[in-house]
Amino acid sequence: MNAVESSKNITPIVGRLAPSPTGALHLGNARSFLLAWLSIRSRNGRLIVRMEDLDHPKVKPWATKAALDDLHWLGLDWDAGPDTDEKEYIQSNRKEIYREYLQQLIEQNLVYPCICSRNEIENVQSAPHREDQRLIYNGTCRGRFADWDSATNILGEGRLPVWRFKLEKQGTTSFNDLLCGESIADYQLDIGDFALAREQNGAGYTFAHVIDDYLMGVTEVLRGDDLLEATHSHIILQRALNFYSPQYIHVPLVVAEDGRRLAKRHGDTRIAMLREKGFTPKQVVGILAWWCGWAEFGEELDPGDLLSRFNWNSFYKEPAILTQRVKEYFCL
Ligand code: GLU
Repeated sequence: MNAVESSKNITPIVGRLAPSPTGALHLGNARSFLLAWLSIRSRNGRLIVRMEDLDHPKVKPWATKAALDDLHWLGLDWDAGPDTDEKEYIQSNRKEIYREYLQQLIEQNLVYPCICSRNEIENVQSAPHREDQRLIYNGTCRGRFADWDSATNILGEGRLPVWRFKLEKQGTTSFNDLLCGESIADYQLDIGDFALAREQNGAGYTFAHVIDDYLMGVTEVLRGDDLLEATHSHIILQRALNFYSPQYIHVPLVVAEDGRRLAKRHGDTRIAMLREKGFTPKQVVGILAWWCGWAEFGEELDPGDLLSRFNWNSFYKEPAILTQRVKEYFCL
């Protein structure tokens, strides 16, 4: 085999940054994006940016451009994204594609319409649960309606069914996360029939991102570990659609000192706000790197400076904490 022939067999490394334009980027998102960038760029891989704007009520019209501006300002770059091709890299422009795959699942009898509200599902769950806990669906609507229209007709004005994936498997499933190791879930107890789309022909985040990662040739998905458990349903979909599964890397989130997810009450950690206050991208990247264990506190760094320090073995794997020291540094 000559060099050209052998290079054809090498799968390119492709990663993605997938912001949801539901609000401004903050230090927490920025750290995950920096890590995704480093992981791909340190191996000369290809990076794309994809806007995940299907979560309608929460999507803010200004947030797509703001996210791209913030990522650029931090010094991250990419090979393709909404700024090079809006049609391709913004999910709301790709609904036709999702529709075709949904149709495929309908024909395979792998999805069904469900009219249960969140409250109804909660009420049949015996144990009390936290607000952020995944609801496992009990299957009330499985086999109940012949099609979408008959489900819709039962609901009053303004309410629509959702398409759920019919998960008939029993037992457990697992996948290997590069950082978190083996993740095991019970099909029925931990996953259940999960929701795919809130419109007859639409798609929600779960469905759309699985299709996009496949069609865009993504080989590595690096994101916050709040999505670790949900990844099981993503892999189930990949198998149902005959897609390959990318390598998953779930990184700890940045949390407040009380261990909770960053929220407004913990101070304004938006990247745009830090920029307005006069901080430089190097100062911000320096703190993000300090959280990873790759920099001294207060070191000022470009993302490129970190390429030689990037190494999962030395990565600090505990949640990154917005400590008093960080708050003082950024005058929060
Ligand atoms: N758009 C998702 C979010 O911002 C990202 C999920 C993913 O990376 O798959 O939470």
